[in-house]
Amino acid sequence: QAKNNGKGQILCFDQTLATKVLKRVQIEYQLRQAIAEEQFELFYQPKVNCQTGIVDGIEALIRWRHPDKGLIAPADFISVAEEAGLINAIGSWVLNEAVWQASQWSDTALGKLRIAVNIAASQFQLENFSSEVLDVLVHHGVPPDRLELEVTESIVMKNLDAVITRLQTLRTAGVRIAIDDFGTGYSSLKYLQDLPLDVLKIDRSFILRLQHEECRQSLVNTILLLASGLGLETVAEGVETLEQKEKLVTLGCSSIQGFYYSVPVLADALPGVVESINALVAPEPHQRAA
Ligand code: C2E
Ligand code: MG
Ligand code: MG
Ligand code: MG
Repeated sequence: QAKNNGKGQILCFDQTLATKVLKRVQIEYQLRQAIAEEQFELFYQPKVNCQTGIVDGIEALIRWRHPDKGLIAPADFISVAEEAGLINAIGSWVLNEAVWQASQWSDTALGKLRIAVNIAASQFQLENFSSEVLDVLVHHGVPPDRLELEVTESIVMKNLDAVITRLQTLRTAGVRIAIDDFGTGYSSLKYLQDLPLDVLKIDRSFILRLQHEECRQSLVNTILLLASGLGLETVAEGVETLEQKEKLVTLGCSSIQGFYYSVPVLADALPGVVESINALVAPEPHQRAA
């Protein structure tokens, strides 16, 4: 209680809460500035196809290049941005930047790769969201099938019918839809059938210690069977070890993303990273010559 009812009462003020609130207000203020000055950067992390071992997509991940504090991870500002109503502005920047970057890669070795962009639930509440996405694609001359949107289960919490209509519009145009962090939200399995989806991303928490714990293994296996029953591709998130990778390949996962292959890197570094991942499965020199 911050109320000052008289002498000494101010001591009741919760210092920790005060500090937290102040910090939040500060971040919010600085975020507004960050949006105006575009102090954000996208990092890119490859997704590797389990069958071929070749990179088949990349995910764009935002960081905030703070003028004093340096690089700030999304965990430290995305939720503030959501609560302050700033996430849609940030989301628009991300979408435009990622699609522009895809256009820059069009005539390179990365030109066929699909770029995945994380979309906050509130962006799907915007009436013109589908047209915003399609306009950005047209503006940068990028075909819709090179874009994938990653959404979490929380999109089902409000105006479900309108959200489904927007997803359908995008999907009909060729944009792919992935459900992110699958298994961590509150959504019932029913939504998996109602939502027009292409990809299911298995949350990192299921992948952790996959090789050691029998029960985790059967959970991942069940998710993979569920996805296959629904005709969805699967991406395993947060794969860090060879054991995890091999287990997922055996279980029939479609693609793998994680530090095992690469941490997220800046756009300039991505061609080299993709090349070296792909080189791991390059044909032997004599095969290449044939
Ligand atoms: P996410 O979409 O589930 O992204 C995966 C996160 O796991 C990323 O964290 C990535 O760097 C991290 N990661 C990837 N491989 C590994 C691994 O092998 N081990 C471990 N420990 N971590 C791994 P990041 O970049 O910090 O992003 C965190 C979350 O912030 C994202 O989770 C996403 O929900 C959100 N986010 C990131 N970029 C955006 C954005 O542009 N817009 C919105 N709305 N949210 C974003
Ligand atoms: Mg994601
Ligand atoms: Mg995820
Ligand atoms: Mg995750």
